[in-house]
Amino acid sequence: MSKTTGTALITGASTGIGAVYADRLAHRGLNLVLVARDVARMQTLAERLRHETGVAIEIIPADLTSDADVAKVEQRLAAGDITLLVNNAGMSLDGSVLENGPVELARIIALNVTAPTRLAAASAKAFVAKGEGAIVNIASVLALAPEMFDGVYSGTKAFLLNLSQALSAQLSDKGVYTQAVLPGATRTEIWERSGKDVDAFPEGFVMDVDDLVDAALVGFDRREAVTIPPLADESQFTAMQQARLAMGPNLSKSAVADRYAKVAA
Ligand code: NAP
Repeated sequence: MSKTTGTALITGASTGIGAVYADRLAHRGLNLVLVARDVARMQTLAERLRHETGVAIEIIPADLTSDADVAKVEQRLAAGDITLLVNNAGMSLDGSVLENGPVELARIIALNVTAPTRLAAASAKAFVAKGEGAIVNIASVLALAPEMFDGVYSGTKAFLLNLSQALSAQLSDKGVYTQAVLPGATRTEIWERSGKDVDAFPEGFVMDVDDLVDAALVGFDRREAVTIPPLADESQFTAMQQARLAMGPNLSKSAVADRYAKVAA
């Protein structure tokens, strides 16, 4: 990698988007730390990438819904040699709030919100101490489109976008680059794992996972704060950002806005 060298820690590296990141980053010469539950799959990937690239690859088996396993990965990030965190592990719900109970809701929030927040915080501390490093958070276009999904998955991804933008604002002058990647529908196992048929989408709707990661890395090399691989017209996102930032000075006032003033009886 031209601007980030060293070691990348990738969560959810056993398949899908995370496994393609592992492939691309190893081919850029980065050493890897792979994190997921399926050790056999990570070993197969690591063997291939060691053979193809000669980089060093470590495997950390972890269920990132488990507090103890997240702590293990936090400790690895605190060791000081990691230069890039790819916060990628995530899941979707089978159904909406109507079909899911407390266990399922707590699980998706643990994996999609709590774990990436703790890992971003651990790496931010280590990176700020060194004055360099990069955090990539895999969010989703659903962060911008809550009406299109269940609200829980999309809400976790809106959280990650918000966290990424706040980290960009806080850490960029400390040498730490943060990127939020917002994939649209991408062909991976996440669909089948959450009871959905990716082939049911209309033609032209679903991106190939290799294309998604290659585009995300173009955004990474450009040091984009937010990368949306399927969005052709960048000005649509820019306009939304500008409208949001323009509201900023008006969002906290001692006076109630006229439009909410009590109507005289
Ligand atoms: P995927 O093919 O289902 O892969 C998910 C990865 O996360 C796997 O490596 C899985 O490994 C790991 N994982 C799942 N549960 C875990 C747990 N409890 N602890 C640790 N690791 C766990 O999904 P993907 O599409 O590549 O998703 C990657 C990221 O992209 C997710 O955050 C997802 O929300 C986001 N995304 C995907 C799409 C899409 O359409 N595919 C669109 C927008 C955003 P193990 O099973 O081995 O643990």
